[in-house]
Amino acid sequence: MPVALVTGSSRGIGRGIAVALGRIGWKVVVNYAGNRAAADECVALVKAAGGDATPVQGDVGVTADRARLVEETIRWGGRIDLLVNNAGVAPDVRADILEAGEESFDRLIRINLKGPYFLTQAVAKAMAVQTPDESGSRGQIVTVSSISAYTASVNRGDYCIAKAGLGMLTALFAARLADLGIRVYEIRPGVIATDMTGPVKAKYDALIAGGLTPIKRWGQPDDIGRTISAIARGDLPFSTGEVINVDGGFHLRLL
Ligand code: NAP
Repeated sequence: MPVALVTGSSRGIGRGIAVALGRIGWKVVVNYAGNRAAADECVALVKAAGGDATPVQGDVGVTADRARLVEETIRWGGRIDLLVNNAGVAPDVRADILEAGEESFDRLIRINLKGPYFLTQAVAKAMAVQTPDESGSRGQIVTVSSISAYTASVNRGDYCIAKAGLGMLTALFAARLADLGIRVYEIRPGVIATDMTGPVKAKYDALIAGGLTPIKRWGQPDDIGRTISAIARGDLPFSTGEVINVDGGFHLRLL
């Protein structure tokens, strides 16, 4: 069974990714920050879907935790075929960029940008010494950024800047790792129904009904999960550094 490490997969989009990988028979490390009960639920769902899973606590924003995540994944699974950098947080308070403070900025950069950057570095080194499969692949890395990578929301500048940085993470590691047989992708979800968007549900309900996206519905975690399954299966063999919008068409300019 191939092995995936999916950060922040106890709930939300990460859980959708873990379960979708379970459906195609993968082993999944279900990483979580603090919600062990949710991680256990996800592990059960992955197993019920046909895969295998184990919960591993770890804060992607903490250096020692990132190292432990890689070690525990290899100890449990024997290798890492796929890293999904999914864990991410919203600002505790949405504050206008003329008022927002450094504490929130530092937190968002640490968890949403520095964490995936250095976890990708650590996993890439582990993948680089793995035996390639028959297609020459040593592993794949997918980062979940956001439409916020290019959409200016003036009440959460810290979040937007962190997500924009993930675009360069993708480009850098795609360029650096291609010769090692490691392909790198970025997924930009649109508005997805999770705990993160729970507090702004009414606002987005109205925006979607009003035509925010050509496909007029909320995205679901499984929409992201199915996209990542295609990557996991190796169905994008001549693409790397590719940005995949999973957003109901939000990114289109309309006239
Ligand atoms: P969510 O429902 O709030 O779930 C967050 C997940 O990340 C949980 O599993 C949580 O673990 C974990 N997590 C939080 N901080 C962590 C840390 N420091 N280290 C490790 N794990 C951590 O969020 P979501 O909506 O699924 O979002 C997932 C990703 O998609 C994020 O990167 C987010 O920015 C991005 N995204 C979301 C949307 C959307 O509309 N929802 C749109 C675009 C992009 P615990 O259960 O232990 O707390």
